[in-house]
Amino acid sequence: MGSIADLLARPLCDLRISVTDRCNLRCGYCMPREVFGTDFAFLERSELLSFEEIERIARLAAGEGVRRIRLTGGEPLLRRGLPRLVAMLARIEGIEDLALTTNGTLLSAHARELAEAGLHRVTVSLDALEQDVFSAMSDTRLPVGRVLAGIDAAHAAGLRPVKVNMVVRRGVNDHCILEMAEHFRGRPEVLRFIEYMDVGESNGWRLEQVVPASEILAAIAARWPLRELPATRHGEVASRWAYSDGAGEIGLIHSVTQPFCSGCTRARLSADGRLYTCLFASSGHDLRALLRAGASDAQLAAHLREIWIGRADRYSALRGATARTSRGARVEMSYIGG
Ligand code: SAM
Ligand code: SF4
Ligand code: SF4
Repeated sequence: MGSIADLLARPLCDLRISVTDRCNLRCGYCMPREVFGTDFAFLERSELLSFEEIERIARLAAGEGVRRIRLTGGEPLLRRGLPRLVAMLARIEGIEDLALTTNGTLLSAHARELAEAGLHRVTVSLDALEQDVFSAMSDTRLPVGRVLAGIDAAHAAGLRPVKVNMVVRRGVNDHCILEMAEHFRGRPEVLRFIEYMDVGESNGWRLEQVVPASEILAAIAARWPLRELPATRHGEVASRWAYSDGAGEIGLIHSVTQPFCSGCTRARLSADGRLYTCLFASSGHDLRALLRAGASDAQLAAHLREIWIGRADRYSALRGATARTSRGARVEMSYIGG
């Protein structure tokens, strides 16, 4: 079971699986409340892939080279019975890394069960420690302490290393960069700073709101000297930096200012079973229709291969060089999975 390559010679190595398009937060850069309000048409239960359907696609994808699976959403911990899915995925031959991205608000209650089911590690999104800024970024009244408790619970349950992702938006939480760095220095979590991306159609993204990773790095290095660490593997999306005084490391994800399309080995499966070969795609391949029409494993695997072999996506590398796509509206991150 070798790995297949796309038109730009990129192998298929990662599968991100969105298990729900719903979320208990309303981060303005992802699911702004004006768009994702009470009358928003989220997917119906019958439209979601069942755990058995997800496992089948993941198993076939592993047969085509996928080695890493990440569960995401929406907020994946809103999907009922998630540990059962984790246990099913953990049994798939060839999967070396099984991770979950979560906003952390429900993690305390679930960390141990997820670890026992076979989850390897978690990434927790946290954009600020100050309650007012956290509330403004995520449009929620939930206390930031719940996320911090979730991080501790994940660590205690062995879901390590816990990574913490901070999306930086100019004028909203960029004044929190040093405070976040200080909080996580010397702790076991790896804090990663993410450039605000122009995903989807609803966040009203503007380039001026992006704080370049180079600026973030300079601000931190001016306070605590840093040295660059080598990439841990091909296709690593974050540049990694160690504090010279031994207080751990940070990561920077410069998806806007230094795109990493040439090493992009990820496919994404939406909660309703569409396969996307790029975060910025406007349409996906409907695997659910095939599954529910009774396709065999061989037919599904052949379809997966065909999709990947025909892939030429490199949206971020072309961003700026081309006008916005005329192919239609881009899908939202909460639907396709971050
Ligand atoms: N709800 C979970 C969470 O927030 O971790 C999982 C899904 S969320 C879509 C996955 C990741 O995408 C989060 O770390 C979030 O901060 C990030 N994200 C969402 N919209 C983004 C944007 N416009 N630019 C950069 N990162 C974004
Ligand atoms: Fe929800 Fe995650 Fe999107 Fe925030 S980033 S709205 S927590 S899905
Ligand atoms: Fe991959 Fe598309 Fe992002 Fe480029 S823009 S890194 S191809 S998901």
